[in-house]
Amino acid sequence: MRTVFEVEGLFDGARTMTNAAIVVEGAEVAWVGQRSAIPKTPQGERSEVVPSPGQFVVPGMINCHCHLTLDGEPNFGAEVRQSDALATLKAFRNARAALRAGVTTVRDLSANGTMVVDLGRAIEKGFLEGPRIVACGRGITTTGGHGFEVGRIADGPDEVRKAVREQVAAGAKVIKLFSTGGILGDGAPPEVSQYSPEETAAAVAEAHNAGLRITTHAHGSGGMRVAAEAGIDSIEHATLLDERTVRVIKERDVAIVPTLLVVQSLLDHADALDPVIVERTRAVSARHREGVRMAHKAGVRIATGTDAGAPFTRHDRFALEPVLLAECGLSTEEALVAATSRAAEVVGLEKAGHIGAGCWADLVFVDGDPLKDLRVLGSPKSVYVRGVAAL
Ligand SMILES: [Zn+2]
Repeated sequence: MRTVFEVEGLFDGARTMTNAAIVVEGAEVAWVGQRSAIPKTPQGERSEVVPSPGQFVVPGMINCHCHLTLDGEPNFGAEVRQSDALATLKAFRNARAALRAGVTTVRDLSANGTMVVDLGRAIEKGFLEGPRIVACGRGITTTGGHGFEVGRIADGPDEVRKAVREQVAAGAKVIKLFSTGGILGDGAPPEVSQYSPEETAAAVAEAHNAGLRITTHAHGSGGMRVAAEAGIDSIEHATLLDERTVRVIKERDVAIVPTLLVVQSLLDHADALDPVIVERTRAVSARHREGVRMAHKAGVRIATGTDAGAPFTRHDRFALEPVLLAECGLSTEEALVAATSRAAEVVGLEKAGHIGAGCWADLVFVDGDPLKDLRVLGSPKSVYVRGVAAL
């Protein structure tokens, strides 16, 4: 069965086309081109032309950084101590909320167990509805380090190797390290470097040996440089960038996922947060946007991630991240690339983030041209994942 969508405008992950058509066969896109050139349906096959659910279509969007087991409750310390059963239920609900907001792929960067890995498998088998999930299992951190409340604590290269192997054995599709302290929880503050070059290199080698990418949480510039020099694939948050660090990141071709939305959301709700969290947030936010601007000018690869699940950062508000990236100097087209094809490259899913023959039929229909106003991405008219309408 072929389904043909006709739209006024289409962004395929790299460029825009008007009066376009998409032919979907099963879970994949079979053809994309001008409406006037739609290939004939082979004899004996059925084809259905679907009136476009919106004027414009973009590839399913990708959130490179979220925590599906968390709802974004104000008290992070209390929420992370929830039961595994509750965490699993929340993960399912948040995955669907993300999908209906146009996010057809999420990368989950640490849960208190393997529940998100299991959820991803259940969705992949068609047992549950949801986005594609690339989950890390547990994040790996140091004794007293950021995220110790839910992370796999590992000190020294040998323990770090074992911690990576445990996530691989549990079915992780990506490895997450914590290279520096952070804002939330009782672990080390943002500027503190946690892992040595030797420990980081051990983690990178084990992840790559298993064929997985490895990404790291890092605020402080020293920790970012250690990670980049050890061969990390991407850096999450990247709030305290300076010129020297941007140079190293660019030289090593490391991508960054700046998670602007979580920093903004914490600042917007300072009244409801613990004063330590507010102080840490203000310390990193002062340099965050300037750093992203600097990295963009230097040609560093930038992808979208919101850190959804952190306090006041909801899973269905993903579309604000490209808007915030545009405020840091990315053009609307570059922000759309960051949310689609660039993000697909960062999470390592070639068939996602593009609309082209052989790609997955993950499509988001919107009213209005997102290249003129990115905010239209916030209210999709319809969302398809694997060729099936989820909204
Ligand atoms: Zn996070």
